Formats: sequence, structure tokens, C-alpha cells
Amino acid sequence: MHLAYSYKACNAPKICRIFNEMGFLSEVVGDEFGIAEEISVPASKIIFNGPYKKREHVEKALIKNILVINVDSKEELDYINRILSKNAIKGANIGLRVRPSVSYPIAPHFGMDEELILKFAKKVIEMGANLYQIHAHIGTQITKLELYKELSEKMSNLAKKIEKEHNIELTINLGGGFALESTPEYFSRDRIPALNEYSLAISSGLNEDKEIFLEPGRTLIGPCAVLATKVISIKRPRNIGKIAIVDASYFDILSSAFLSHEVECISSGKEELLVETDVYGSSCVSADVIRVGAYLPSDLKEGDILLVKDAGAYSINISSHPMRPRPKIFILRENNEYEEVRRAFVE
Ligand SMILES: *Cc1c(COP(=O)(O)O)cnc(C)c1O
Repeated sequence: MHLAYSYKACNAPKICRIFNEMGFLSEVVGDEFGIAEEISVPASKIIFNGPYKKREHVEKALIKNILVINVDSKEELDYINRILSKNAIKGANIGLRVRPSVSYPIAPHFGMDEELILKFAKKVIEMGANLYQIHAHIGTQITKLELYKELSEKMSNLAKKIEKEHNIELTINLGGGFALESTPEYFSRDRIPALNEYSLAISSGLNEDKEIFLEPGRTLIGPCAVLATKVISIKRPRNIGKIAIVDASYFDILSSAFLSHEVECISSGKEELLVETDVYGSSCVSADVIRVGAYLPSDLKEGDILLVKDAGAYSINISSHPMRPRPKIFILRENNEYEEVRRAFVE
């Protein structure tokens, strides 16, 4: 099995480099191809996905022959065909992003319907490219194991058909989507499976030994980060319990809109007694709630420091505070030294 880190979960270049150094492949979408280049990821370790890819990046990727470009649309395949002809490139590794018909509402705007893939496969081969893989990514925070079994079954049957028709060997890429274990969801009370359960579900759907690629994002980086924020004030608004207002906002941790992030107070000398407290951000937007029903010390006050847990995925990285700079990011090393990996900045 080949594992790629999905940059978009947190694409600060230094974080991506750490995953690269740990041996993960790099899964990039959109302009993230530029990040992989900036941190000198070898071409053979890049998987390039997504409905939008900068044209100059596609051309570079084809010339360097990266591990695989997963084509998202007919228009993209036509463009690739023109670039291959213009540069007389043979044997570029091309994949096809499939929109499989599984029992889950997959977004309509990624990839091409399963029913059309045989036609696209034929076209890739006629172009003189190397059809390397079929790819599917069905969503994020997926808790249903049966769905991964269904997906791997569908994809391996589809791969078999293509392989037979063209006498080739394909790899199968099943994307990411594995749910974060430590953060309960508001919108679903499903049990969060462990990673080995996902892998068993996937292998039980395969009908033969196959080279499989996975591209986790959330589950790798989510638990690695905390958002540190300072209490600005404590209020007890009419008809509402106790609330704390902090200097961060939900723009710094957008995942708080659907995940109940654990919040902990780390100021020293705090009372043992914990009371239910709702944590609000300070962006002046009504919806700016970071956590409803956190348990925080009863003597919480201005200046106390709170940590919002599991803040690594789809949060700090994509924060966009309308009124304040985006937060700094630090990496804490094993020896307790820390390194600033991103300065606070205003767009
Ligand atoms: C976002 C994305 C992933 C990662 O998804 P997670 O839910 O963070 O694991 C993997 N592959 C593709 C194509 C993606 O768009």
C-alpha cells in the first residue's frame, strides 16, 4: 500500500516537508503543485489531483513525468493531449478520477461518472500515455466502513474491465476521508472506526492483489495541532449560561462549525472545579462560536490561555480572519524547542 499526505488538510510548506521526509507521497490539488516544487519533492512522489490545475503546472508535471496526474474532466484530458503532442511526450503516467456509483452522496463536481470511464481509458491509451491508475475520493470524515468495502469492490471491478480490454496493469487510488477519531461530531453520532478497520474494509472489497494508494489528510494532521487563544472576557448573558470570549475566532478554526473541539485551559493555578462554558470568538460575526459546552475552570478569567484541540485539519491552514492577521504556526519539537513555521500575516 502506498500512502500520500493530502496537502490541502494543512499545506504549510514545512508541514508538507515533514510528511515528505517521513516517506509519504505528496497529494496536491490546485496550486499546491507549486508547494511540492518549492520543497523539492521528487517528481516520482507527486500525485496531482483536483478539478482545477494551473496549466503551466500540468505542462511541468507531464514533462517531469510525475507519479500520476489524475484527470478530472474531458476538457483536462484534451488539454493534456495537446501538451503531450506539442512536446512529443510518450508514456506519461495518467490516472482517471472516477465518480463511482456507491451508496453515498458523492459531490457531483469531481471526476467522471463510472459509466464513462471505459471511454476515457481508451482515449488515454490512444494518446500514447501510460494509463497508470483509477482514482476515487468519496468525501471526508466518512465513518461507514461498508462504504469503503463497496468502493474498493467497485474500483477493482472497474480496473479489471479496463485491464482486460487493453491488456495493461492498473493501480487503484481510493483517496482519503478517514474520520478523525478523537473529535466527536455534531452531525453524526456514528462510532469512529480505527484505521486498521478501514484497511480491513478496503481489502475485503478487493477481488485480487492490487497496488493500492490512499491519500489521508484529516486523520494525519488533525490531532497534531492545537489552537492557542487568550480569554478576553467572561460574560453571563441573560438567559444563557457562562460564556468566554477569546481573541481567536472561528475563522481560525472553521471546523468548529461541525466538530466539537475539546477545549482545555492551561493557565497555571486554576481551580479544579470545571463548569460548562461556551467559547465564542471575537470576529464580530454572530455565528462565531468555537465550542458550545466546553468544561473550563470555574475561576476562568481575562488573560487565561485556552487550547482548542485537534485543530490541524482544514482549520488554521485555511483561516481567513476579516479583521485580524492569520495566526502564527509553530512546530513543537521533541526536545520542547519550537520553531515558527508561519508568521502572522494579513492577506
Ligand atoms: C481532500 C482530499 C483528500 C484528503 O481527504 P481527508 O478527508 O482529509 O482524508 C484526499 N484526496 C483528495 C483527492 C482530496 O481532495
